[in-house]
Amino acid sequence: MAEQVGTLTFGIIKPDAVRAGKIGQIIARITDSGFHLRAMKLIHMTRREAEGFYAIHRERPFFGELTEFMSGGPCVVMALEKDGAVRAWRDLMGATNPAQAEEGTLRKEFGASVGENAVHGSDSEENARLEISYFFSQIELV
Ligand code: UDP
Ligand code: MG
Repeated sequence: MAEQVGTLTFGIIKPDAVRAGKIGQIIARITDSGFHLRAMKLIHMTRREAEGFYAIHRERPFFGELTEFMSGGPCVVMALEKDGAVRAWRDLMGATNPAQAEEGTLRKEFGASVGENAVHGSDSEENARLEISYFFSQIELV
């Protein structure tokens, strides 16, 4: 594993953005913004895998819809490195609801609705570690 120069966060290019053919544009925005890709792969989550990933939201009213959407097509999972990566990646993503996201953010540009909002990002370094380890083994981090 290469020497770590920043901190890590975890991101997903969600099925809506993959379906719309936006993987390349979103990865370009990520690398242009100074993130280093430490791990990346295209996967198609089962319903059960999506439920495990979003277990923290199990009691929320949108849980069924969310896990159906996230298991409804392929997505790209990524470990991203930058100084202050968690905050920086959430800033680049923008607000959960694309209608409230700032100009220049990924959710503003690529998100369609509060549910189908193009990208996921960890909300803390602790959750970033858990989320990276949910999808990647140590050997997959370069
Ligand atoms: N979500 C939804 N309806 C809501 C709130 C959230 O469908 O009212 C979905 C949306 O895809 C969001 C995900 O659930 O990205 C996780 O919600 P969270 O509040 O953690 O937002 P995020 O951290 O993704 O900005
Ligand atoms: Mg969240």
